[in-house]
Amino acid sequence: MTFYQPVGHEVELFRAAADNGLPVLIKGPTGCGKTRFVRYMAEQLDRPVYTVACHDDLTAADLVGRHLIGPEGTYWQDGPLTRAVREGGICYLDEVVEARKDTTVVLHPLADDRRELPIERTGEVLNAAPGFMLVVSYNPGYQSLLKGMKPSTRQRFVSLSFDYPATELEQTIVMEESGCDRDLAAQLVSLAQSVRNLKDHDLEEAASTRLLIHTAHLVRAGVPVARACRSGMIEPLSDDEATVNALMEVVYAVF
Ligand code: ADP
Repeated sequence: MTFYQPVGHEVELFRAAADNGLPVLIKGPTGCGKTRFVRYMAEQLDRPVYTVACHDDLTAADLVGRHLIGPEGTYWQDGPLTRAVREGGICYLDEVVEARKDTTVVLHPLADDRRELPIERTGEVLNAAPGFMLVVSYNPGYQSLLKGMKPSTRQRFVSLSFDYPATELEQTIVMEESGCDRDLAAQLVSLAQSVRNLKDHDLEEAASTRLLIHTAHLVRAGVPVARACRSGMIEPLSDDEATVNALMEVVYAVF
């Protein structure tokens, strides 16, 4: 069973969307639990999940499928989206705004009440099986205006906004994931909150829950705490030496 600590009403909302065949858009910074949440919900709903990490070379064919050449000639291979459509599973497109624009052509008819997938290469139009659900995520923090989602796309989705969990919940997550004690979890969360408050100054992204978990693992493995914070949390945030040194001052203030 996947561990997931709910942080708001996301579980009920996702379930309501799933029951009504509505697609879901999850917004939020990196490392705040979006992927974990989707995996957990897929388990709860007993549906397979196909996760695709989108990137700027990702085309509609990567999602839908393509003809391949084998020993007996060419054959068709379904992509992850097509598999989810046929099986009634969840297709999760992580960082969807990175994908090439031609992907919207296949996503739009699936994301509204048509629930159909046109497969251009074979001329087929598939009707999505009842359990099929399209879930996409993106990080509004580092989206350029150009790359933002078009209103015609975003208005097809039920939207959930994720952020870093409240103090107690984040401590629980760090403890559950790393096996550390409450004291260390409390100090790491407090450190993260101080660093997040500096966010607007120098950093592209704030310290995520993921970084706290990494740091806690290092401490549990015997790495001295300041060194663990440097490698687990501070260095991954910035390449700028002055920034790293300033953030390490925050570390020394907490530990
Ligand atoms: P995202 O997809 O938002 O970038 P992830 O879902 O991969 O982030 O989360 C990063 C890590 O943080 C997960 O592997 C998990 O260990 C932890 N995590 C974050 N939020 C939660 C939560 N609410 N419940 C359980 N684990 C969480």
